[in-house]
Amino acid sequence: MSECGCSSQSGGVPLKPLEEALLLLLSHARPVTEVEEVSLPEALGRVLASAITSRITMPPWDNSAMDGYAVKTADMGGCGTRLPISQRIPAGSTGEPLAPGTVARIFTGAPVPANADAVVIQEVCEEQGGEVIISQVPLPGANIRRAGEDIREGADVLAAGTRIEPQHLGLLASVGMDRIPVWRRLKVAIFSSGDELVMPGQPLGPGQIYNSNEFTLEALLRSLGCELVKMGIVEDTLEATCRALEDAAEQADLIMTSGGVSVGEEDHIKPAVEQLGRLDLWKVAIRPGKPLAFGHIGDTPFIGTPGNPVSLFVTFCLFGRPFILKAQGVAGDLRPTPVTAPIACDWPRPDKRREFARARLELDDEGEARVSLYRSRSSGVLSSLAWANGLAILPEGQPLERGELVRFLPFSELLS
Ligand code: AMP
Ligand code: MG
Repeated sequence: MSECGCSSQSGGVPLKPLEEALLLLLSHARPVTEVEEVSLPEALGRVLASAITSRITMPPWDNSAMDGYAVKTADMGGCGTRLPISQRIPAGSTGEPLAPGTVARIFTGAPVPANADAVVIQEVCEEQGGEVIISQVPLPGANIRRAGEDIREGADVLAAGTRIEPQHLGLLASVGMDRIPVWRRLKVAIFSSGDELVMPGQPLGPGQIYNSNEFTLEALLRSLGCELVKMGIVEDTLEATCRALEDAAEQADLIMTSGGVSVGEEDHIKPAVEQLGRLDLWKVAIRPGKPLAFGHIGDTPFIGTPGNPVSLFVTFCLFGRPFILKAQGVAGDLRPTPVTAPIACDWPRPDKRREFARARLELDDEGEARVSLYRSRSSGVLSSLAWANGLAILPEGQPLERGELVRFLPFSELLS
């Protein structure tokens, strides 16, 4: 490693190691500060702006976990005890205190009556003319769900910074919340650079390709709950690129672009950012995605992803996603969690950069998980991402033999 902590060079430009680059980006991600209140269903995918404290105890009272008979265990003899049924307590009603020497017919979710200390499941009971014969003696407390076993009044239900998933919505509803304080959505301006690009639905002219990155990027951002300012395709000139960046900086919290971040004469993003603002980072020691750029136009952060469709996807997952999560106020560890599994092939020629290879975690014939790599390393092959279900992390400079363990990032860890 050289003095500046860079792992290698590329055309005289030092490549930042991934961890350093990510720390640098995250140090510039300022969380939004405006809070809005949304209805419960609208809160899905949003980030909680403050901790939610329960105003009630859940369950509010001891209740039956089964359909059966509420009993006082001390009233029961051995197996085959016969006792009269003194009341019926369906869910939604409240019974009377249990009369001594009797049982209550009770249903799942109904309050256990005072004086009862267990519920006998109906499968071990037989009703005969207003009485029940019980063939198993329960232990005290059997089949009773205790008041407050889920949540106590005044307890924290969810922490600030939680990204609300379906199970969180259910939990909030269970304690009666209907308006939820969330951070406002992060507004992201996007554009694609490239004179070769046309939109799907248009005929393709000579030398043209369809603009796929806009759709990938838009979907990646929407799945993180961002609001978008879509600026379309920007022509490959310095003037047009500068205008688009200035316009984007005025409207959004974050600018994300695809293409034009290399050093060709047709790559104008880097010079435009340098002219209008400042470039904080350019080139990271990863493959694909090396020419990733990060900077600021005024106060607005800018992430420039490479134009190759796979590079865009990988750099979004590695850098864009954690940056956005932090800027949205998500608390806790933002790193995706890899799993570990044996690689299904030899990997004799590792790159000097850490490689995020399109890969599939799948089961072999014995039902054991293993990681297969896509046949091509080309970052232009978008079908590889449709084939893959995650990215294998192949360490820089380290050949691997079939069967060695590799880390694998499932798309489920990266795409939401
Ligand atoms: P660039 O980073 O601009 O040099 O582009 C690298 C490669 O990605 C070139 O082959 C471009 O044609 C392709 N590319 C750039 N932008 C897009 C886009 N929006 N959709 C699909 N391919 C793109
Ligand atoms: Mg280009």
